[in-house]
This record gives sequence, structure tokens and C-alpha cells, in this order.
Amino acid sequence: MLIDTHAHLNFRAFEKDREKVIKKCLENNVWMINVGSNFKTSKKAVEIAESSEKGISASIGLHPINLDTGLIKLKPDKLEGENYEKEFDYERYKSLASSKKVVAIGEIGLDYYWKPKTKKKKELFKDKQRELLLQQLKLAKELNLPVIFHCRMANNDLFKILSENPDLRPKKAVAHSFVGTVDDIKKDLDLGYYIGFNGIIFKNIEGIDFKKVIEITPLDKILIETDCPYLVPKGVEAKRNEPIFVKYIAEHIAKVKKISFEKLAEITTQNARELFNI
Ligand SMILES: [Zn+2]
Repeated sequence: MLIDTHAHLNFRAFEKDREKVIKKCLENNVWMINVGSNFKTSKKAVEIAESSEKGISASIGLHPINLDTGLIKLKPDKLEGENYEKEFDYERYKSLASSKKVVAIGEIGLDYYWKPKTKKKKELFKDKQRELLLQQLKLAKELNLPVIFHCRMANNDLFKILSENPDLRPKKAVAHSFVGTVDDIKKDLDLGYYIGFNGIIFKNIEGIDFKKVIEITPLDKILIETDCPYLVPKGVEAKRNEPIFVKYIAEHIAKVKKISFEKLAEITTQNARELFNI
């Protein structure tokens, strides 16, 4: 059994054949957590989870890039198919979390990939993301749920915010789609956080040594994920990623760790069950 700890079957990319994809996963013993990126996709994630007796959970949250700050021009993501939100409605998200299928708050965090042009706007943009993150960390704390962090080109600021706000710093979290240096990963591990690996580990990113990063991450801190429909793993002939392809991530990590696929599957499943209480 494998658990894809970060999937987006709640996105438009799966609108036409969602049921089929889910059936295939469950028949092949692949469980999943569908992760929300705004209210609409969070609600959809809950609905999908509610419709299945077991094997599917949901996470809810507002992704930093889906906050419409008015500071950058945002292009709609065709695969996601969603609109941006003007503000985070705490109570609305909180009521969504009343479902037992909601196992985490996320994906939340910081994303500096797209940024405004002027220095002043850049600062304001970062402030807004910080504010949004803190609101959602508050919700995670109130509901006693673990956090799924999305952090893109912003590792330093994320650690800074967490150290400046110890009361809101989650005790349980995962650094999803980890991209960072050995120093970055050490900071995550020091906080006791899990590390989520997906198809990015097959890419060449300047300054990032994924082999080294996987080597130093203890087995009991590794989670596997696809981030589907994005990031099709190397060697897979498909345009769209699916939870079932999480096995390619597991295979690669097992190889780097020099353990069997079965052992890696067993440990990462156990890790996911522990973090998300599933
Ligand atoms: Zn995602």
C-alpha cells in the first residue's frame, strides 16, 4: 500500500474522469489526500473524501498565490480551474473542517515565484502572504490539525516567520514538494517536520542536490506525493500525473536509501498515517 499525501483530484484536470481515477487508485491500494488551494477546491476535496468510505482524505486551505492582492497580474491556472480569493474567510474554512475527513490545513505558506515589479509592492506582497499564513496557522492550532506547507523560493522567510511566532508554529507539519538546500532541510527536520517528495526530485534545479537531500532525511520523516495533475515523474508516459504514479517516487527514494521498495512503502505509509491520523 502507498499513500499519495498530496494530490489534487479536486482540480478541473480531473473533472471528466475523476471517478475512474479514484477507482483505479483504490483497486491498486493507493490512498490519497486531496489538497485544497482555495475555498472551492477545498470544498471539492471534502466532497470527494466524503463520497468514499475509506482511502481518501482532504486538506483545506488558501494557497498563497490564490490570494488576490491586486499587486500582480494573475493568470488562471487551466488545470486548477479556479478563481482567486480576495481574503481568507476564517469561519467559512473552519466550518468546512467539521468533516471528519479533513486531516490537515494546507496547502498554505509562501510563494515568491511571481512577484510585483517595484520594491514597495514586493514588500507589500510579502506582508500579505505572511498575514494569510498566520491566519491559517491560527486555524490549524484551533482545530489541532497538522499543516501542509507550500514554500516556493521563500525558505528563509518561512523559517523567520515561524521563529517569530512560536505560539502559532505548528507542532506537526510537512514541507510539501520540498525544494531546498541541505541547510533548509535541516531546519525543517529540527522543527520535527516531515518532508514531502514528488516528481521534482527528478529535475535539475541549480543549487539543489536532491540525492543528498534524500540521503540526509531520516526514513521516519519521509512522505511521498505526486502533486498531480502536475509533475509527472520521470519515466512515465502520461501528460497528466495521477496518484497511482506515486510508486515511481517511492522506487526512486528506495534506491537512494538502498532499501527495498516494500520497506519504503511500509515506512512512508506509516509516516502518513501518523502525521495525518488516518
Ligand atoms: Zn499542490
